[in-house]
Amino acid sequence: MIIVLKSGATEEQISHIVDKAQKLGLKANISRGVEKTVIGLIGPEDVLRVTPLEVFPGVEQVIPVLAPYKLVSREFQPKNTVIKIKDGIEIGGTKIAMIAGPCAVENYEGLRRIAKFVKAAGCNILRGGAFKPRTSPYDFQGLGEEGLKYLKEVGQEFDMATVTEVMDSRDIDLVSKYVDVLQIGARNMQNFSLLKGVGATYKPVILKRGISATVKEWLMSAEYILANGNFNVMLCERGIRTFETMTRNTLDINAVPLVKQLSHLPILVDPSHATGRWGLINSVSKAAVAAGCDGLLVEVHDNPEEALSDGPQSLVPKNFENLIKDLKRIADAVDRTI
Ligand code: PEP
Ligand code: MN
Repeated sequence: MIIVLKSGATEEQISHIVDKAQKLGLKANISRGVEKTVIGLIGPEDVLRVTPLEVFPGVEQVIPVLAPYKLVSREFQPKNTVIKIKDGIEIGGTKIAMIAGPCAVENYEGLRRIAKFVKAAGCNILRGGAFKPRTSPYDFQGLGEEGLKYLKEVGQEFDMATVTEVMDSRDIDLVSKYVDVLQIGARNMQNFSLLKGVGATYKPVILKRGISATVKEWLMSAEYILANGNFNVMLCERGIRTFETMTRNTLDINAVPLVKQLSHLPILVDPSHATGRWGLINSVSKAAVAAGCDGLLVEVHDNPEEALSDGPQSLVPKNFENLIKDLKRIADAVDRTI
């Protein structure tokens, strides 16, 4: 249930509604927009139905949200959410965010070289995994805290925001100390204790779509994070598993405009995991920008042959530079910038 308040609604009126809701056992989330303030009420449907919230002072309209995801829905918040990642870096506005870096942080020098390249190409958000969700327990699992330290140091040197995956709720505090954005990987999309854990922080979160998750399940996972108080969530389409085996996954391009219709949250696309092939990244990224994504997450490595993970899908710096050049033209055509 969404309660839209009158433009002049006072703080007392807002508190009155929130107090009443809490007495009824409902959870209230206040979203203060420039034009309107809305209160999202979550709780048992029968309580919501019989409570005449329309008569409360300051209330303009009461809108039942039919979708199972409430706070995530466009009904709850019609305008796009713009997330501040760091001073001067936002995601969800006119500018399309470029997030780039190696699949895994392998060593300090390598990360520094790649960061220097991508920054020079115009990217100001650095990615790199320190805790890697590998299919095989015998593959490189990431450098852990050492990798986080490198990310922080290199991010500071090049004035870039940083993104890394957190795989375990026990690591949330540790990872939050070092990076600007927490990534929830595809394999953890329905790790509900992890979702609640990142929901209890104020860190921006990139929530990747699960390998076989429907859009509804994905939005419900995002709802867990918002329902726990953190509204700084970006969704990331990273390809889903289909019958096709020539590519690592299949990019569900439909998801981009669909999520835009259903939700106010920014939507990113990861063409690297979606395709698994560096030779497809340029075309697929152009399609994603044309479809309306708010950002791209791209794996870059200066020696893919020797990469400890995901070499075949990593762009070399020159190709990353070309990608940004090509995307500028597409962005321009859809009234965005890069
Ligand atoms: C990654 O971004 O390195 C990663 C492991 O992605 P995903 O969770 O989408 O597989
Ligand atoms: Mn990877």
